[in-house]
Amino acid sequence: MGYQIGIDLGTTNSVVAFLETSKPEVIHNAEGSNVTPSVVLYRSGEEVIVGELAKRQVVTNPEQTVSSVKRLIGRRFKEVEEKEKYFHCKLEEDPVNSGVLIDLGWRKVSPIEVSAEILKKLKHDAEEYLGETVDQAVITVPAYFNDGQRSETKKAAELAGLDVIRIINEPTAAALAYGINREKSETIAVFDFGGGTLDVSILELDGNVFEVRSTNGDTFLGGDNIDQRIFEFIKKEIEKETGINIEGNIQSAQRVKEVSEKVKCELSSLDTTTISLPFIVSDSEGPKHFQRTFARDEMNRLIVPVLEGVIPPCRNALMDAGLTPKDIDAVLLVGGSSRIVKVKEIVTEFFGKEPIVAGRPEEMVAIGAAIQGGVICGTLQEVLLLDVTPLSLGIELADDLFSVIIPRNSNVPTTASKRFTTVVDNQRNVFIHVLQGERKIASQNRSLAHFKLTDISQAPREVPEIEVKFNLDANGILNVGAMDMTSGISKEIRIESYQTSIPIDYEKEIREAEEKEEEDKAYVKKVRKKERARHIIDFFNKFIKDEEANIQEEDRETFRNYIGNLELALEKQDFDEVEQWITALQAMLEKYRNIFMRFKTDD
Ligand code: AMP
Repeated sequence: MGYQIGIDLGTTNSVVAFLETSKPEVIHNAEGSNVTPSVVLYRSGEEVIVGELAKRQVVTNPEQTVSSVKRLIGRRFKEVEEKEKYFHCKLEEDPVNSGVLIDLGWRKVSPIEVSAEILKKLKHDAEEYLGETVDQAVITVPAYFNDGQRSETKKAAELAGLDVIRIINEPTAAALAYGINREKSETIAVFDFGGGTLDVSILELDGNVFEVRSTNGDTFLGGDNIDQRIFEFIKKEIEKETGINIEGNIQSAQRVKEVSEKVKCELSSLDTTTISLPFIVSDSEGPKHFQRTFARDEMNRLIVPVLEGVIPPCRNALMDAGLTPKDIDAVLLVGGSSRIVKVKEIVTEFFGKEPIVAGRPEEMVAIGAAIQGGVICGTLQEVLLLDVTPLSLGIELADDLFSVIIPRNSNVPTTASKRFTTVVDNQRNVFIHVLQGERKIASQNRSLAHFKLTDISQAPREVPEIEVKFNLDANGILNVGAMDMTSGISKEIRIESYQTSIPIDYEKEIREAEEKEEEDKAYVKKVRKKERARHIIDFFNKFIKDEEANIQEEDRETFRNYIGNLELALEKQDFDEVEQWITALQAMLEKYRNIFMRFKTDD
């Protein structure tokens, strides 16, 4: 068996670590660096190039160079087309699975293939560094990755020849790297701000037990958004000075993008820097240069509107954990964008304490992944990692209701089950529609998968018992089983496909669910009223059938009339009228009170 590594497969950069005896160490790539840009260059007829060399080609070959592929993996095209309009490659819808295809001009590649190329390079460089084959890996993903995104990441690793022994959440990995062997009881907040995403997690560390209390974030907020603000600013400045708009010029735009990121990084350690773009545009008079100083304060004014977006996830994570900033013993800063001075200031102000930068922020996640690998294979002593699921999981019921089986913020791995029944007599099949979300109305949540349990035992409605069991494994991948408790017929599915899953913006979803709570409650109330009316109709139909001999002819007619009117009112969804006819039926029943009593006891 070969070596095992921990991989932080980042949006912008990837990092690999391994365990040297029991000490984690970061692996340096073939270029001698601890980070490998997650950039892949596909030039027609040539070998695929990954990492720093590919990154340098973005300017000359923007359309064949794929970066930030993590923003695309496991997502549907419809979901990314608006958000990712700044992608420098052409994106289109994959006709097979509604996912994304990247059009390189001479061929099309899927995000899985691109991620697999990055992973192949990481595997190869690790093997060179260690002088051994590497065949197993723990890979980290943002806490907010859904099933589809996790599954596709796993598929990419398999394509790269890696056996994924565990997928863990990035903030949890960072907490492991920070907290292992500290033997302290503390509540920490991990603020992981990378190139594409922000994850905020609250963890309880107690010896070697790591319990995630809550997790929140924004999958569309990261360093790239900050670069975009700076890019827009420089673009305008160039236009002001030269009268030329660089927008349509792919190469100039790409150079401005690169310089935007560069000056941003420089201003993390300097107060001022220089934006230098020689030969950036040209007109009939010849080439033009652009140079100007750029101060941290000036950058801050530009980026503060973006950075304000980090507050709601911090607030929500605390709220979900039932804590206030005062309860947090330490704030751990992770991810490249945490190096921005203004970010540190905002985090300090929010939590009321200086955050900790343990080690190199960009290495923490990979180190945590290597530690987790060591725990799984027994090199390190047992660590109990209790992670949570960010959104509730459940199934659709009749009348578009959502029944939660695993509530949001439950610890994973977890198993939960609930029993359901049928809605019509002699129902042959039940349709299990698995959803994720916080709304009480099923159609307002995200559809993950559906399947049918066929040939269930036939019985009157509401008699059969169907047990639906959810098993969310340690990788955050969901298995759903349904069983007819009478016949024992069962079916199970593993939710790996993202084809039916729609956009993920967890924070927005939770907020929306809160805003729409009253609306949802009103809907549920209406459904309950409908259910009650249907039960009453069933009751009276049974009553006049069973007691035909004891009810006067004209009263039977009246009963039928009222039942018919109640059905019509129900169809119209006129609940005032529904109530009127129910009252009328109940009044009629008074006359047959004696039979009714008997009827009830006999039933
Ligand atoms: P990560 O996803 O953790 O690799 O973070 C990548 C993001 O961090 C990118 O947007 C980088 O531009 C940003 N980044 C890296 N180093 C710095 C720095 N010194 N100052 C500001 N941002 C940085």
